[in-house]
Amino acid sequence: MRGPSSSHTAASWRIGKVGVCLLGEPLAKALIEFDAEGGWAPNYEEQGTVLGMTGGLLDIDITDRDIVDGTAIAVKRGIPIEYKISRFPTDHPNTVRITLEGAHGARIVLVSVSLGGGMFETRMLQGHPFHTQGDYYDLVGWTAEAPIADQKAALNQLLQAGTQAVWSQGSASSQFHIQSAFEFNPNVVQQIRSLEWVSKVSISPPIMPIIAGRESRFDFTTYEELVAFNASKSLSASSLGLLYEAQRSGLSEVELLGKMGELVRIIEDSIAIGLKGTHYEDRILHQQSHLIAKAEKERLLPGDSLTYRIIENISAIMESKSGMEVIVAAPTAGGCGTLGGVIKAVCDAKEIPQDVKVKAYFAAGLVGVFFANGPGFSAETGGCQLETGAAAAMAAAALADIFGGTSEQALGAASMALQNTIGLVCDPVADRVEVPCLGKNITAGVNALAASTMALSGYAHVIPLDEVIETVKSVAASMPRSLCCTGLGGLAATPTSADLKKKLSCVTCS
Ligand code: SF4
Repeated sequence: MRGPSSSHTAASWRIGKVGVCLLGEPLAKALIEFDAEGGWAPNYEEQGTVLGMTGGLLDIDITDRDIVDGTAIAVKRGIPIEYKISRFPTDHPNTVRITLEGAHGARIVLVSVSLGGGMFETRMLQGHPFHTQGDYYDLVGWTAEAPIADQKAALNQLLQAGTQAVWSQGSASSQFHIQSAFEFNPNVVQQIRSLEWVSKVSISPPIMPIIAGRESRFDFTTYEELVAFNASKSLSASSLGLLYEAQRSGLSEVELLGKMGELVRIIEDSIAIGLKGTHYEDRILHQQSHLIAKAEKERLLPGDSLTYRIIENISAIMESKSGMEVIVAAPTAGGCGTLGGVIKAVCDAKEIPQDVKVKAYFAAGLVGVFFANGPGFSAETGGCQLETGAAAAMAAAALADIFGGTSEQALGAASMALQNTIGLVCDPVADRVEVPCLGKNITAGVNALAASTMALSGYAHVIPLDEVIETVKSVAASMPRSLCCTGLGGLAATPTSADLKKKLSCVTCS
C-alpha cells in the first residue's frame, strides 16, 4: 500500500472499491460520513482516510502514485466526493457511512467498519444487515416486493450446491446476498438478472489477497489447539505458520513461499528507497535514516553495528511510508518498520540465507493470526499495543525461528516482547503517523531482538502468548478513548503537537 495508516488508508480504499462494485455503475457522486463520536472524526484527513477512500472510489490502485492526487483527479473527472462529520448509531469507533450515486441513477448506502491492519467489514447495505469482508465473490440482488417461497426456491435452484442466499426483508425492498469462493458463472448471473421479480443485481469480486471459502480442514486455529497439535510433531513456528496459511488459502506451500518472497522484496525495496531519501510535503520528520551511517564515521556511538542497522532500516521503512512510497503494512502501516527492519538487519549481519529469512515471516504471521482472531490491529480500539506491540511480538517469533528456535521458544519470544508493550497508548503528534511512531517502531525492533535472544538462551516467558494477547485485549477495553488514536491525549495533546498541526495545515492548504 501507499499511505500513512492501514486502518485509515488501506481499509478505506477497500471499502470504497467494494462500494462502487455494489453500486454497479460508474460513480457520479459520493458522500462519506464519519460519526462525530467515532475515532475517525478528529483525524480522517491527516491519517489518510480521504486519500484511501477517494482512491478506492476512483479505482486508483493503492500502489499507484496517483492515489496521492485523488482529490484533484476526482475534480478533473467531475465526480464530487464530499466528506462530512455526522451523527449516526455505531458500534465501532472506525465506522463510515457512504452514500454513492451512479451515472445511471443508482443510489446505495453502506455502513462499513475498519478493523485494523487494512481489514474491514461492510455491515449494512441499503438499510439491510449485510456482511462482507471483501474476501469472497459477493453477489447482491434486490426485489421490490417481499419474496415468496417459490421465488426463493427458484433462486436457490440456480445456485451451486452448498451456496445459499441470505435474505433480508425491509419495508421498501428485499435484498439477497450470495457469497462464493469462486467466480460466479456468467450464465447463472444472467439467469438471476432475468428473474422478473429481481430489480437489480450487483457483483463485487474479492479484494483481499486470500480468498475465503477455500479452506481445508484446520489442524489448529487457537494457541491451545496449536500446542496440542504440535506436541508430537515438534514443527517450528515458521512451519506451523506455513501450514496454517496453506490450510486457510488452499494454496500450496511453494505458492505461499513465492508470495511471501515477493512481500519481502517489497519490504526491502522500501528500505533501499528510504535510505536514498523520500519527499512529501505533509510530514513532520524528513530524512534521518542516513544520519546513523554518517555519525558512525564521524564519532563514537554507543551500541554496535547491528543496533545501528536496526535503527537505520526501521527509519528507512517509516520514511518510505511518510514519503507515500509503497510499503508492506505488516502488521499495520503505523507499525510497518519493525518487522522488516529488524529481520533484514539481523539476517544481513549473520549472513542468513534468503529462504530461511522468507520462511521465518510465516512465524511472524502465525503470531499475527492470534491477533487477527483476537484483539485485531486497530489502534482506535486498543492503542499502539495492537500496532508496534503486535509488530514486536511477530518480529521476536521470526528472529527466534531464524536461529533454529523451537515453536515454544519462538512463541515464548513473542510473549516476552508483547509483555513489554502492554498498555502502549496511541498518541500521534499532529495526527501524523510519525512521532512517536518512529521511536516506537525502533523500540519494538530492539525489544524483538532482546526477547528472541532471551528465549533462545532459555529464559522463561512465564505467561503463555495466548494469555498475554488476552491481557492486551482486556487492557484495550479499559483504555480511555483519548489515548486510542483520537489526537486528544498523550503527546498528541501537547502544545507543540497543536503548533505542528497548525503549521502543517498551512503548508498543505497553501
Ligand atoms: S502511536 Fe503507534 S498506533 Fe499510534 S499511529 Fe503511531 S504507530 Fe500507530
